[in-house]
Amino acid sequence: MLSQLSAHNQFHAITVDLEDWYHVYGVSKQRRDSFAMERIVPVTKLILELLHRHQSKATFFVLGSVAEQYPELIEEIARAGHEIASHGWSHRLVTELTPGVFADELLKTADLLERRTGKRPAGFRAPQWSLCPRRTPWAFEILAEQGYAYDSSLTPLAFVGDPSGPRIPHRIETQQGGLWEIPPLVTPTVFGNLPTGGGWGFRFFPEWLIRRTLFSRQQLGQSGVIFIHPRELDPDGPRIALNFLRSFLVYGPRTSSGPRLERLLESFRFRSLGELVSSWQSAS
Ligand SMILES: [Zn+2]
Repeated sequence: MLSQLSAHNQFHAITVDLEDWYHVYGVSKQRRDSFAMERIVPVTKLILELLHRHQSKATFFVLGSVAEQYPELIEEIARAGHEIASHGWSHRLVTELTPGVFADELLKTADLLERRTGKRPAGFRAPQWSLCPRRTPWAFEILAEQGYAYDSSLTPLAFVGDPSGPRIPHRIETQQGGLWEIPPLVTPTVFGNLPTGGGWGFRFFPEWLIRRTLFSRQQLGQSGVIFIHPRELDPDGPRIALNFLRSFLVYGPRTSSGPRLERLLESFRFRSLGELVSSWQSAS
């Protein structure tokens, strides 16, 4: 099913999962509603400023429900030249959806994003890396059927993905056609892959390790994919009471993540995933 291909490209990619501070898996609507604070607009504007300062373009995986609530924000991101891709509608895990519900959510989100930006999204990322070649093979068929050029939902990590899965972009072929699968950056070690490209790993591991991983990718002509959530760059944002492990994963060191991202933007060149995919397609 999988064929691997090195990306001969010296650009890396920044991706932003555009969701609010309460889109943490397992948090009930009731608990979300007990907070009246909306953080997504001011924090996303800070991210846009940061990208603008360093002339970088990113991919924003936008939740349909967020696009419905903040249409001007989506328009502003698109006007700034960033790619608008799909993060589904409801932030429910794909493994908990039926094929029909997944297809409907995908279509509803794409229709709304197209109305806002004039462009249909070419890329998809599932909430919490919840696509799985074994458990949800139908999801890749549906993405190909709906014309997606790429997916970025599989991570080569234990617990949330397949640690033996490819670390670099590769093709997935389905009955409905093929699409690129673009995993996030991980650092291979004797202990397995480390999640240095985003989430708690991006905030927790030493910065030199992330830089060294990006640099070694670059030496091989491959692109590394960084992913961030607005809440991770917002140390003043609200916190929901979670158990210790989940609290660390969601809220672990947040203060340094903005400056850390800025230093990476200074040192490396970043583009959107859509631009990288176009360059691979024209090279093949
Ligand atoms: Zn998400």
